[in-house]
Amino acid sequence: MRFLLFTLLACTACLAQIPSSNQIDLYKIIDDVSADRIEKDVRKLAGFGTRNTFSDTISNTRGIGAARRWIKAEFDKISAECGGCLEVFYQKDYVTKDMGSRIPKDAWVVNVVAIQRGTENPNNMVMMSGDIDSRASDTMDFTTDAPGANDNASGMAGTIEAARVLSKRKFKNSIVYVGLSGEEQGLFGGKGLAEYAKKKEWNVIGFLNNDMIGNIKGVDGVIDNREFRIFSEPTDPTDTDRQKAGRRFYGGEVDGISRQLARYIHNSVITYMPEMKPMMVYRLDRFGRGGHHRPFADLGFPGIRIMEAHENYTQQHQDIRKEDGIAYGDVVEHVNFPYARKLTAVNAINLAQLAWAPTRPKSVKIGGIVEADAKLKWDEVKDAVGYKIYWRDTTSPTWDHSRYVGNVTEYTLKEIVIDNSFFGVAAIGADGIESMVSFPSGVFR
Ligand SMILES: [Zn+2]
Repeated sequence: MRFLLFTLLACTACLAQIPSSNQIDLYKIIDDVSADRIEKDVRKLAGFGTRNTFSDTISNTRGIGAARRWIKAEFDKISAECGGCLEVFYQKDYVTKDMGSRIPKDAWVVNVVAIQRGTENPNNMVMMSGDIDSRASDTMDFTTDAPGANDNASGMAGTIEAARVLSKRKFKNSIVYVGLSGEEQGLFGGKGLAEYAKKKEWNVIGFLNNDMIGNIKGVDGVIDNREFRIFSEPTDPTDTDRQKAGRRFYGGEVDGISRQLARYIHNSVITYMPEMKPMMVYRLDRFGRGGHHRPFADLGFPGIRIMEAHENYTQQHQDIRKEDGIAYGDVVEHVNFPYARKLTAVNAINLAQLAWAPTRPKSVKIGGIVEADAKLKWDEVKDAVGYKIYWRDTTSPTWDHSRYVGNVTEYTLKEIVIDNSFFGVAAIGADGIESMVSFPSGVFR
C-alpha cells in the first residue's frame, strides 16, 4: 500500500512536469513559420503597385482588386491542401464620400476572410488580421505607387503564413485569418467585419491585429530584432456607468478584457519564445494614431495590436523619393523578414493556445472584505479540467503569482488579504493549456 501510494505520487509529479503534446507542438509551430514564404508574399503584395482602398479593381496586376483576389486565392490554395479546412469568402461594405473626409469616392471596402472551424466550439473565434490596403503621402491619392511593404503587407503576409502553419492542425475553437481594407481611410474594413461578427453572434475570444511587423531600425536610431509591442486599452469601452463607478472601489482600472489578452500574449511569449522581448504598452494604440483592433474593441471584443517596437516614419505613408539624402517610401528593402517571421510565430502560438484552451471563466466574483482570506467563485467552464487563481501586486503589469486550485468553482486563498493584490481566474484544459485570465466582475460577502 505504501509502495502504491509512493508510485502514484511520483507519477503525478512526473506528469506535471512533462508538457502535453499540444504544448510541445507550440515549439514546432514556431519552427514551422517561414521567413522565405513571408518575404515572397510581401514582395507579391508590394508588386501590386498601390493597394489604396480606392485604387483599380479591374486590373489583375495593379491595385487593390488584384491584391485581394490574390489573397483569396492563397487562402483557397491553403484550404485545398488541408482538405478544404478553410471557409474563404469576401466580406464587404459600401462606403460613400459623405462617410468621411478621407474617402475620395464611393467604393466597396472588401475584406478577405478565412475561417478554420473549430471541432468542438465552431462559434468561438480567435482572430488574426493584417491589412490589404496601402497609401501614398496623400491618402486620397489612389494612383501613385504605394508598395506598403511594411505597412501593411508584413501583417498580411504574416496572417497568410499563420494560416499555412496552423491549417495543418486541429483546434477546438475556430481560427479566423483576415485581410482588412480601408484601414488608412478610417478603419472601415475592421468596422465592417466587427459588425459582421456581432451580427453572426461570434464569440470572439481575441482579435490580434498585426500592423507593421517588419521594421527593426527605428527613427530613433535603435536597431532591435527582439523587441515588439502589444498595445491594449486599459478598460472596455463598452463598460456601463455602473461598472465605471465600481472601479473606484473594487479596482479594474487596468484590467479590461483587451488588457488580459495582452497579458496572455506577453506570458506565452516569455514562456515559449524567451528570446523575444514583448513590450506591453498601456494604451489603445500609438499616440493619436489608430489600427484595426479598435473597431473590435468598440463592440466589446478583446482586441490588441501587435507591432514592431521601433518605427521609421520616413518609411511609412510616404511617396517613394529621395530628399536630402533620405530614401523615403515603404519599400520591400526595408522589411526584415526574419523579424516578421518571429512576430508571426508570436501570433501563431497564441492563436493555437487560445484555440485549444477552454474559454475564460465567466461571472468571476470576489469576496474577503475585512477578512484574512481572499475568496473567489466563478461559473463552471465547459472543457476545463481545473482552474488557476492568479494574483499580482496592484502596481505590477503581469500576473506574477498563481495557485492551481483543482476542478472547483470556488476557492479561498488563506491569509492573502484582498486589499493588497488584484486577482483573476483562468480555466485549464486537459492538455494543460490555459484560457485568458478573467478579472472579477462582481463582489460577494
Ligand atoms: Zn498605415
